[in-house]
Amino acid sequence: MKVSFPYMGSAIVYKKLFEFLEHEVIMPPKPTQRTMDLGVKYSPEFACIPLKMVMGTYLEAIEKGAKVLVTSGGHGPCRAGFYGDTHRNILKSLGYDDVELIIFDAPQDNWRAFFRNVQKIRNGVPWHKVINRMYTLYRFVQKLDELEKMVQKIRPYEINKGQTTQVWNQIQEKFDKIKTRKELYRVYEECKQMLLSIPTRKVEEKDRIRVGIVGEIYVVMESSINFGIEEILGNLGVEVERSLYLFEWINDNLVPWILRPKRFKEIIKKGQRYIKILIGGHAVETVGHIIDFKERGFDGIVHLMPFACLPELVTQSLIPKISKEVDIPILSLPIDEQTGKANMLTRIEAFIDLLKNRKKGKTKEVFIDNVQEHVEEERVVMV
Ligand code: SF4
Repeated sequence: MKVSFPYMGSAIVYKKLFEFLEHEVIMPPKPTQRTMDLGVKYSPEFACIPLKMVMGTYLEAIEKGAKVLVTSGGHGPCRAGFYGDTHRNILKSLGYDDVELIIFDAPQDNWRAFFRNVQKIRNGVPWHKVINRMYTLYRFVQKLDELEKMVQKIRPYEINKGQTTQVWNQIQEKFDKIKTRKELYRVYEECKQMLLSIPTRKVEEKDRIRVGIVGEIYVVMESSINFGIEEILGNLGVEVERSLYLFEWINDNLVPWILRPKRFKEIIKKGQRYIKILIGGHAVETVGHIIDFKERGFDGIVHLMPFACLPELVTQSLIPKISKEVDIPILSLPIDEQTGKANMLTRIEAFIDLLKNRKKGKTKEVFIDNVQEHVEEERVVMV
């Protein structure tokens, strides 16, 4: 089967999954302005940005020959649960009757449907091979995430600008070629050394700025839609950590509740201090992670939300209260097709100035709405 999938984050993981199941993989291109334009053109205007971008990705994958598109579903009171059917209807209306869309909903929602889908994509590969290869893939995701976390900690202190990103690109290319578990562990060690040998400047612990990135999964994970925020922050000398990594997402979502990591349950509990019921998307996790980042000594939070995302809109409305009570500055950045990079950059730079000033004890301010004003004032004074 000529299989493709939505592009989100380290897409080589999904590619590897279908290679292990012996499919012909049609790698979707990394989303660009064209992807966005296609998605916007054929999606309902009121839809949130992930639906539009994924729509554009599907159309580009079909252009490259994809006949089967595999995606995850959604549940809870946000729109993600309707995405699959919406995409399917749009594809039909465009005449792609021969393209099949396979939607994986959470197994606990409907075990039968889940296994029917597994049977479809298993592609006749014997079960013992499937299990063995899925375990390799599980470790593949874990190792790739570990390396990405290293990248986020090294980039702010690199001496040669851009070197960490260059090495990270090479790492992904190396991982793309991995075929066996043995190879995985060897390549992982090699890549770790590549990262450790990047020359960095020494920065005292007390001078380091750490920012947590939280929000809806697509905008948090996909750099093409968030303007590469991790790189932007890294280049400003800021260490970052996301609330979502693929390995943790697998453990938190695909494992039965009883077996889920303790850390995940703690995050949910922390989030429920402000949002008592599950309202879909990642709202409760977003709040839980904000509190968790603060407890772990982070200096600030960047909250990414797709424009018109209902769960994250609830989070955003709670942010002034959380920010004040927990005493941590939070910058909320709504993202949609109109978002301009220059405006976003200005806000991020102002935010980092605020964090630096707090670190030096020059201000206790946490209100982000005032950041621009403060920076403006500072500039006037300097003039
Ligand atoms: S979480 Fe937000 S962006 Fe994602 S589907 Fe739900 S409403 Fe849309």
